[in-house]
Amino acid sequence: MAQKISADQKAQVAARVDYYREMGIYDFYRQEVTATSQSDEPIAAIAAGREESLFDSPLPVIHSEAKPAALKAIREDIGDCTRCRLHKGRKNIVFGVGNVNADIMFVGEGPGADEDEQGEPFVGRAGQLLNNMISAMGLKRQDVYIANVVKCRPPGNRTPERDECDTCGPFLLRQIEVIRPKVIVALGAVAAKYLLAINDSIGNLRGRWYDLKGSKLGVTYHPAYLLRDPRQKKEAWKDLQMVMKYLGLKPAAKTPE
Ligand code: URA
Repeated sequence: MAQKISADQKAQVAARVDYYREMGIYDFYRQEVTATSQSDEPIAAIAAGREESLFDSPLPVIHSEAKPAALKAIREDIGDCTRCRLHKGRKNIVFGVGNVNADIMFVGEGPGADEDEQGEPFVGRAGQLLNNMISAMGLKRQDVYIANVVKCRPPGNRTPERDECDTCGPFLLRQIEVIRPKVIVALGAVAAKYLLAINDSIGNLRGRWYDLKGSKLGVTYHPAYLLRDPRQKKEAWKDLQMVMKYLGLKPAAKTPE
């Protein structure tokens, strides 16, 4: 028989349901509690195929099949965005691309001219280098997810400003919550500083793990910087090797140039 739940527990469930709705997930059903359930878990629920209690983790895990709809809901929330000045010069909103179940998510700063034209992140010269970095890790571009902090091209490819990152960044955080990668790689200072809310140099931030929303976060140089200073590629490779070691990935036969 179903147990009664307290007002506090009801509020928790309501908050979770709202959270799922924001993610674009609308179908829920209740599962009766079994004798083995802990007394502080009066409701075990399955949301979108998830089989643990809703109270098990601070953030709900979204089942793979529900992820495309959840991402679509985020994209719809962005809409034909005019929340910041970057909308004025854009051709396309560059949302993100890749495997919704990726173990690795790469985060750049914002679209350049090629990305603005094509509506896809990292498709220009820096993107070509990012593709090479991904291949060197023994992966394909389609295996990972790629997004940026800001979704519209800053004029003249300038660095996105703080208020632009603060306006657009929450959409990236929602993408991370849906994809739940094992590892996030922040490419360059803008991504690292936004995601970590730390104002420090890349030199100081790289070479160690951080925790973000249940994912490990590592920092490396932005590919555009590596194009300008190829001597740093060796250092970036060390950062990627840290990721590969954590995920048990073997490098491709050929290491990056
Ligand atoms: N640089 C970025 O930070 N992101 C892109 O998508 C392209 C270049």
